[in-house]
Amino acid sequence: MNLTRRDLARLTAAAAFSRFPRLGRSQDSGRTIGYCIVGLGRISMQHFMPGARLSQYSKVTALVSGHRDKAERMAAEYHVPAKSIYSYEQYDAIAQNKDIDAVYIALPNSMHAEYSIRGARAGKHVLCEKPMCTTVADAEAMIEASRRAGKKLMIAYRCQYEPLHQRAIRMIRDGTLGKVQAIESSFGFNIGSGEWRTTRKLGGGGPLMDVGIYCLNACRYLTGEEPAELKGYSSVTDHDGRFAEVEEHLSWTMKFPSGAVAACNTSYGVNMPGFFRVHGAKGMLHMEPAFNYDGVRLSVHLEDKPPIDTLSGDRDPAQFPPQADHLAECIFQNKEPKTPGEEGLRDMKLMTAIYRSC
Ligand code: NAD
Repeated sequence: MNLTRRDLARLTAAAAFSRFPRLGRSQDSGRTIGYCIVGLGRISMQHFMPGARLSQYSKVTALVSGHRDKAERMAAEYHVPAKSIYSYEQYDAIAQNKDIDAVYIALPNSMHAEYSIRGARAGKHVLCEKPMCTTVADAEAMIEASRRAGKKLMIAYRCQYEPLHQRAIRMIRDGTLGKVQAIESSFGFNIGSGEWRTTRKLGGGGPLMDVGIYCLNACRYLTGEEPAELKGYSSVTDHDGRFAEVEEHLSWTMKFPSGAVAACNTSYGVNMPGFFRVHGAKGMLHMEPAFNYDGVRLSVHLEDKPPIDTLSGDRDPAQFPPQADHLAECIFQNKEPKTPGEEGLRDMKLMTAIYRSC
């Protein structure tokens, strides 16, 4: 049988997905978590909702949107009844809808806090997109609202649910790479004009909040440490009106308690493929692309050993279904999510410190 590179990638993705730890059937037979999708934009329609459809324990049961026609189209595709389509004004009425267990917040960054808090007050668990919000005070208020409601709050750090990222973490924790010495990481793209992401009011900040956060979060989960010191520089090189309110480029460095150092870059002015390189005492671990939805690739170069090269899939079943099912598992088993509100709060505090340093 002749397998193309694409076939191989698909098979690897399917294998990776099937390796993802599943709940014991005995604990959950027939149970699913109903998600109410808040905001019908790119991430929800192109990734989260298809991911929920592929998942084992999650399904889309309600929609919140300002565009009734778009909501009706998506409702037809996901078999959501008309009674479970809400406008933003009707949002609080989700409290009365027993088909909704959790809300998935996929709105512009500065709206995350309000809709997460109202979701918790309506008695729903919350899965909120990154960045968790745009201020430390909002992050704390979100955690408090979910705590008071006795509901879960999980931040959608999808890479932490991706098998190759998990493998990279294991190779560091089990000593394969030796003591981590230094990390390099970047992620950026050339943004169009007129995007909400370039407004302070909705974006809360520039590329750091949007894509630099992947590098920041990766440095923390790869080292398993919290930065002890950091320094940042931001700049604008393209004075074409896009960066009147947020930074265009941002570079920052961090030093961890072990002595490991990290150098990171993010940008809205140039396409920077998302990657990280972890330099350890025994070799180097390189993931590129690291933060894409698909085609994630890990290569490991250990001294005196042949290089290991691992491909992930060319679609995204390795990230979104396990992420949606993780919250389901936490709800069924009353466990704390692996990426709870506190994880988002840590990044929020660090991004605030980076902006202050800039
Ligand atoms: P998007 O612009 O495609 O969608 C945003 C949605 O919010 C749209 O449905 C829009 O109609 C709605 N909305 C409601 N009020 C709005 C307002 N006042 N202004 C603008 N839009 C409004 O954005 P997106 O790319 O889907 O991003 C949404 C969130 O998801 C962001 O927080 C982003 O950081 C996050 N995100 C996460 C990932 C990931 O991989 N985890 C990827 C992309 C985006």
